[in-house]
Amino acid sequence: MEKRELVYEGKAKRLFATDDAELLISEFKDDLTAFNGEKKSSESGKGALNNKISAELFKLLESRGIPTHFVEMIDANHMLHKRVDVILIEVIVRNIATGSLSRNLGIEDGKVLPFTLVEFDYKNDDLGDPKLNDQHALILGLVDFQDELDKLRRMARQVNEILKPYFAEKRLNLVDFKLEFGKDSQGNIILADEISPDNCRFWDMETGEKMDKDRFREGLGGLKIAYEEVLNRILGSK
Ligand code: 5GP
Repeated sequence: MEKRELVYEGKAKRLFATDDAELLISEFKDDLTAFNGEKKSSESGKGALNNKISAELFKLLESRGIPTHFVEMIDANHMLHKRVDVILIEVIVRNIATGSLSRNLGIEDGKVLPFTLVEFDYKNDDLGDPKLNDQHALILGLVDFQDELDKLRRMARQVNEILKPYFAEKRLNLVDFKLEFGKDSQGNIILADEISPDNCRFWDMETGEKMDKDRFREGLGGLKIAYEEVLNRILGSK
């Protein structure tokens, strides 16, 4: 599959057209950003780790009946996937309180939530990704129908029901994560973007150590070692 013109450059990926109008190539970058782009850095090898971790998780989810945009990993930094119309809603799934949930609502950091929380953020850098309720999403025209919002929530919960026990077996707590969805050429809602330590929080079950982008957000260091460890645990017992 030939890599053609750049169609979009995001903070962590570049998107390229291919010779098939329905397929795109994502190039995973080594760049790191946090706090809506205010903190920036780069870590050699990070893009390849996220590409591989995402590929493994998309394959797992597909095998369990979740439709995704994933087609194949092309090489270390490139993934071939379906072209979708991105739905500008970040679907946040939380099992344990931390991050913005603890900051905004004063819920104790590390508290196991009584049930899985699913939230929507508006994917809009200029506005700083504000929280959305269903009416906001419909007024903004981010989806056409309430049914589609219900479907996003349902699919996000299904992803959590697969990934939470999967990572527990690998002695990682899946604390929270962000999913993005899109509509394929037939209008079906499918999982898109990436699933990696850039957009998930993983805490080691024994030590509580953070194994995700919070290492960068909080200046803890050791980001690449942590991402490598996540990948090794994924590959360890496939
Ligand atoms: P929080 O709202 O606590 O900052 O983030 C909740 C979860 O969603 C975390 O796993 C975080 O990595 C992910 N997340 C939320 N917003 C974004 C975003 O704009 N970019 C990325 N990469 N992850 C996000």
